[in-house]
Amino acid sequence: MRRSFRFLLRPTAKQTVALTACLDDHRALYDAALEHRRTVYTKAGVSIRYGDQSADLKHIRADDADGQGRWSFSSQKATLRRLDKAFTAFFARVRAGRTPGFPRFKGENRFDTIQWPKNGDGCRWDSQPEHPTATFVRLQGVGHVRVHQHRAVRGTIKTISVKREGIRWYVILSCDDVPAASLPATGTTAGIDLGVASLATTSDGEHLVNPRHLTASADRLAAAQRELALKKRGSKRRRKAVARLAALHGKVRRQRLDGAHKAALALVAAYDVIVHEDLRIANMTRSASGTLQAPGTNVAQKSGLNRSILDAGWGVFLTILSHKVESAGRELIAVNPANTSRTCARCGHCAKENRITQAEFFCTACGHAAHADVNAARNILRAGLALRDAAQAA
Ligand SMILES: [Zn+2]
Repeated sequence: MRRSFRFLLRPTAKQTVALTACLDDHRALYDAALEHRRTVYTKAGVSIRYGDQSADLKHIRADDADGQGRWSFSSQKATLRRLDKAFTAFFARVRAGRTPGFPRFKGENRFDTIQWPKNGDGCRWDSQPEHPTATFVRLQGVGHVRVHQHRAVRGTIKTISVKREGIRWYVILSCDDVPAASLPATGTTAGIDLGVASLATTSDGEHLVNPRHLTASADRLAAAQRELALKKRGSKRRRKAVARLAALHGKVRRQRLDGAHKAALALVAAYDVIVHEDLRIANMTRSASGTLQAPGTNVAQKSGLNRSILDAGWGVFLTILSHKVESAGRELIAVNPANTSRTCARCGHCAKENRITQAEFFCTACGHAAHADVNAARNILRAGLALRDAAQAA
């Protein structure tokens, strides 16, 4: 199983300067290689290949020993490969008869990751053994950077990446052969309803993670975005507003990840089989201002950017959940969410009138009353178990 581990870096002031230079040089290399391909393509109609450009790299490094020559040959090649991928995708779209945009130059804020394709080649994880209580990652041209390692790394480290997010730097390890840590069977199953008031509600009536903090941050983020739009291009105030926006984005991302991890952990610990709504289907059927199926008053006010911030949380959550399910040896089932919020979980009566408010469900046929999300989660569970039975019978 492949998994990635992400840790905060704690570079010194000097290392921060070096990291920034390293990122800038990789970006410059990307843009120069793009410029080269562009010129040759528009002037001669010839496309340059990755092999040609990586051969040039040797000369570039030799001619610029204090600049490009400082960094790892392998991470530079990875950067050229990244450009190559952008071109491959571009030509694939051209061949498909579409008119894609030509691969773009990376502005200062559009290039935030450097990848070293192999641990030990221009980078080394957990270097400096004389410091047994701390973790360091050695990066060529930067030195031993301290890592805030808040959890154990398992498996074999394949690639090492460094990413800049606002003023923070992270190291991301991509590992192969991560062992699955199977949890003991609990003999229980659950359906989950994804929502806004709670990230997820289980068919057992539990509400997981109230994203109140996230909602507050989303409001601040939307305000910061509006503020930025008013600033003059190139002004000092605009630069400050951009930095503020980036910091808020980082905060929202961390809050969302934190909440999603907690909710996913709780579910995986408690249930053998977890059933959720298929978001790809849900997104198609969702109304513009509602939750998955039922628009509500507190939700209707949250539109535009705020909505998209909260929406994105479901995708992140399901991704994290699927990783945890896999490593714990549990089972995850996605079902079509159509009608799950308006169908009575007790008698099966399906009517719009059953859903009184965002929070309340009352069956007009049998009188069954329940929290609307719990009722929906029960329907989701039933649909998932039916799918599973059908698959096992086939
Ligand atoms: Zn009913």
